[in-house]
Amino acid sequence: MKFICFLSLLLMSGLQIKAQNKTENIVIVTLDGMRWQEVFGGADKALLKDKRFTKEYVSTYRSFWNDSANERRKKLFPFLWSVVAKQGQIYGNRNYENNVNNANPYYFSYPGYNELFTGYPDLAVRSNNKILNKNENVLEFMNKQENYKGKVAAFATWDVFPFILNQKRSGIYLNADIDSLKFSNSNLRLINDMQFLTAKPIDVRPDIMTYFAAREYWKAYQPKVLYIAFDETDDFAHGGEYDQYLKSAYAEDRMIENLWNLIQTSPQYKNKTTLIITCDHGRGDINKDNWTDHGDNIKESGQIWFAVIGPDTAPLGEIKTAGQLYQKQIASTIAAFLGFEFKSNHTVAEPIASLFSKPAIEATVAALNDK
Ligand SMILES: [Zn+2]
Repeated sequence: MKFICFLSLLLMSGLQIKAQNKTENIVIVTLDGMRWQEVFGGADKALLKDKRFTKEYVSTYRSFWNDSANERRKKLFPFLWSVVAKQGQIYGNRNYENNVNNANPYYFSYPGYNELFTGYPDLAVRSNNKILNKNENVLEFMNKQENYKGKVAAFATWDVFPFILNQKRSGIYLNADIDSLKFSNSNLRLINDMQFLTAKPIDVRPDIMTYFAAREYWKAYQPKVLYIAFDETDDFAHGGEYDQYLKSAYAEDRMIENLWNLIQTSPQYKNKTTLIITCDHGRGDINKDNWTDHGDNIKESGQIWFAVIGPDTAPLGEIKTAGQLYQKQIASTIAAFLGFEFKSNHTVAEPIASLFSKPAIEATVAALNDK
């Protein structure tokens, strides 16, 4: 692919592609431990029929089953398979040998999020403990750039994110679990009250609280880089609750749709915002009972997926060609959308060139020739 080599050459030379990219804002959303098997195939029949995993069989079957895999996945992820599949790109369907993997060998959350945001699958990052991450991430990198200072925010359900993204050092606005929302904005104050009074089926605040906090913050403070980290899918999966896992996945798809509709009706964000949806790791599948779990003892749990929609990404839909991409490439891709080359004191994997439409690259080449 000629133009892919061109882009990596341009990026390696440290050239800013800002003037040619239409993306001015980035939104990243992660669904913790969400399997590619459901993303591309919808609800799994064996798990749906297994009473150990699906207690609410009737309502779950009615909501998410269809004999056609294409209809099934649309029932589970209506936004992904109606809007993103038409206007964006979706990677990771291994039935077409379109592979996306963790480059880190551990296949659990902290190493996955570290890889995702630092572009560096650090072998020393191998626990979920609350240890401040020494690796610089792309969110704090962006927060150091002119026009992005104070315009980078992250909202997370899981209370380990202040350590993964090193809240102390990074300087970004980060709100996780029941961190207080100390704002004068009345909607944010209401959400703050609610998160302290709600039931917590997964021991941290429900994802809907994280979403509403992020949404109302976005409305009030217009961040240019916004990250939303959902958590329920992984927790329900560990608990062996397949019905709740599916229902959370569906709800998260609807929240993403809600945000995208707001973005596309806001003059400041419309057609200037790229949305990236992905996960931290996969889960077991070969031995069906292993769907609840993940880690280096379950080889297929390093299999992941991602989806992108935005003004610089060609509407190719589901990618059905053989290929191999890695989670570590997303950090530099985020920066590249905003016109920056993410450099740090650790190695950073190169961006995913196929996400950048050809006209954007040709315009860059034309601008170079003009010089
Ligand atoms: Zn997990």
